[in-house]
Amino acid sequence: MAGRAAADGTTRCPACRAPILRQLVGHRAALTVTADLTPLTSAEQAAARTPNRLIWCLVQRPHTPHQLRWIDRWHPAACPHPHVTEHHCPGPARQHPLF
Ligand SMILES: [Zn+2]
Ligand SMILES: [Zn+2]
Repeated sequence: MAGRAAADGTTRCPACRAPILRQLVGHRAALTVTADLTPLTSAEQAAARTPNRLIWCLVQRPHTPHQLRWIDRWHPAACPHPHVTEHHCPGPARQHPLF
């Protein structure tokens, strides 16, 4: 069914159909994050990171929904989890122009 999230909390972007995870991340202020599910290398993280685009640690454990975590200064450098960034939607997949 459209719009129904999988058991692990992942879903698909309604516009571009990319696999995403939308989650409320609570810290001081709760923030709704829509994250891509594509793990980034450290070089890609450095390229993607801007003041408005954060990198998240995607904690994956068996039998529990995926969980996004802040990457703070105490975050282990040798983290075993994939790191992802916010989904910046490229928009609906382009069809051939109608005119
Ligand atoms: Zn991590
Ligand atoms: Zn999208």
